[in-house]
Amino acid sequence: MKNVLRHSADVLVIGGGIAGLMTALYLAEDGADVVLLEAGELGAQASGANAGSIHLQLQYPEFVTYGESWARAYAPCLRFLSQSLDLWQGLSANVNEPLGVKLAGGLVVARTEAQMQAIVAKARIEAEAGVEVQVLTADDLRQIAPYLAPEAIGGGFCSREGKANPLRTTPAIAAAALRAGASIHSHTPVTGLEATPQGYVATTRGGRIAARRVVNAAGASAGKIAAMLGLTLNIDGFPLQVTVTEPVAELIPHLVYSAAGKLSLKQVANGGLVIGGGWPARVRPDGDLVTDPRSLTGNMAMAAGVVPAAGRARALRSWTAWVNGTPDWRPILGEAPGLPGFFLALFPWVGFSAGPMTARVTADLVLGRPPALSLRGVSVLAD
Ligand SMILES: Cc1cc2nc3c(=O)[nH]c(=O)nc-3n(C[C@H](O)[C@H](O)[C@H](O)COP(=O)(O)OP(=O)(O)OC[C@H]3O[C@@H](n4cnc5c(N)ncnc54)[C@H](O)[C@@H]3O)c2cc1C
Repeated sequence: MKNVLRHSADVLVIGGGIAGLMTALYLAEDGADVVLLEAGELGAQASGANAGSIHLQLQYPEFVTYGESWARAYAPCLRFLSQSLDLWQGLSANVNEPLGVKLAGGLVVARTEAQMQAIVAKARIEAEAGVEVQVLTADDLRQIAPYLAPEAIGGGFCSREGKANPLRTTPAIAAAALRAGASIHSHTPVTGLEATPQGYVATTRGGRIAARRVVNAAGASAGKIAAMLGLTLNIDGFPLQVTVTEPVAELIPHLVYSAAGKLSLKQVANGGLVIGGGWPARVRPDGDLVTDPRSLTGNMAMAAGVVPAAGRARALRSWTAWVNGTPDWRPILGEAPGLPGFFLALFPWVGFSAGPMTARVTADLVLGRPPALSLRGVSVLAD
């Protein structure tokens, strides 16, 4: 890491999670003069603390909560996620490090006919968006997922979903960005940002830096950065927790979800089961996060109901982090209205999966090119 902050850069990226680091990587690969500032450690917020699911299909709990009209409005984002998965497939080779990317498929497991009907309705909308989700019978499930509880009566299988290792991903991308020529400063929070006739000037403890263009990739804190320029963003932080169990015998190749409630379950390389799915952590009065024991027991019970082996494994560790969330789940991507040269790189809730494509389109826009995928219907800025 270079410690002395320069006075100017062509592009300033704020935030060293997957969105900011990959944007810096793509920009530097294209020869741009880019400086990235990160408030703490690189990848230490959501991008390093997430559950490592690589999602594509519509999330079942949101589908049943918000309904088909929400799903149709969100459906263009599936094309975005699909292209992000294409980028994930080549990412280990691009950054020259194994990132634990395994796309063996994601399975929503049903126990009731009503849940099966919702899976069928969801698959229809997914198919319209070009994402294939196979509807499976109980017999199909026994064939491909013999580790499931006998109560499972069927499910929805998206063969392209899977997992990656978040702990490996952001350091590897940061190293690749440095090799490509980006300057990266951790422990350098941006405390002020103002527009100037030439672009923008950011204030940090280490001095001020001027840049012609700025990328706001500050995740759950992106609203605070935007507010420095008088822009209000409908994005916030929501406290989540995830748990990993002791290692168990190799059993589960898939990303497993439940139609009975919030669950994501996967087996990682050392045999541990990583169990999450959007269970809330607790916010202490001082603003720090702690695990909520009710979420831990609820999440583990949900896992054990779908995969009995999860009920026999002991939980080793739970951890917490703020996820970046928008109310309708849609991302905020593109140049901010009224602020030329100020770009937003904000993909909520499943931003690890969407990280590579978030960075690709942001780098394209910063470089003045048409984005790799049209943002119409995807970004709330392009409606
Ligand atoms: C517990 C949990 C589990 C999750 N599971 C999954 C999953 O399985 N699959 C999936 O796809 N997604 C998952 N997500 C969501 C996903 O992790 C995020 O959407 C994604 O990582 C967001 O990436 P980002 O780079 O936009 O933000 P972040 O990773 O949060 O990075 C933003 C960075 O900006 C920095 N920053 C903030 N303010 C400033 C400032 N003033 N100056 C400089 N830097 C600043 C922060 O320190 C941070 O490092 C999960 C999230 C959580 C919290």
